[in-house]
Amino acid sequence: MAVSKTHPAEAMIEACQLGLTLFGENRVQEFAQKSSTLAADQQAAMRVHLIGHLQSNKAARAVELFDGIDSLDSLPLAQRLDSAAQLSSKKMPVLLEIKLSDEPAKTGLVPSSPALDELLERLPDLVHLRVEGLMTIAPFGVSDATTRACFRALRVLRDQLAAAHSQLDLRQLSMGMSGDFALAIAEGSTRIRVGTALFGARPLSPS
Ligand SMILES: *Cc1c(COP(=O)(O)O)cnc(C)c1O
Repeated sequence: MAVSKTHPAEAMIEACQLGLTLFGENRVQEFAQKSSTLAADQQAAMRVHLIGHLQSNKAARAVELFDGIDSLDSLPLAQRLDSAAQLSSKKMPVLLEIKLSDEPAKTGLVPSSPALDELLERLPDLVHLRVEGLMTIAPFGVSDATTRACFRALRVLRDQLAAAHSQLDLRQLSMGMSGDFALAIAEGSTRIRVGTALFGARPLSPS
């Protein structure tokens, strides 16, 4: 996945011409603007997923704009996405974002938490969503060994959840960014999310 957040639509078009077709964006509003500048054939050549935290009140807009939501982190959000997908006659691919480190600023579902268990139990009833796997962001500023252990933990969790919820298809493991994608691939990543290494450094934004 080419992470095009903060970069202009022209960068997406150029990457697409070079054969990259899956993009990651982290803000609904930012991609809404970019998307409005893309021609229909350019849009048709790309699939764009949301990889940043989504507020429930933007769920409907996100369903219109994106081809997948890779940052699903609560049951209320899943319910909003499911209703919006039903209205748009879409079957929305989603990944569950898992929080494997206790950095306070980070969002995501905690393994073995009641919130994750409840979401997994209810997902089969949300028939307008199609869960495809798990996503995580490794902690910042830790050793390669710690990063790798985090990716391994996501794979082990996926295997456990797949065994416990056989009606869900959890094949995707979205893990690894510019600084750590080789470690993530070694631990079984199926979808690395690379921004800086493709597009260069991002301008500092007041987020
Ligand atoms: C920005 C971002 C990336 C890409 O990070 P790089 O280090 O620039 O490759 C990947 N995943 C998520 C969730 C991001 O927000």
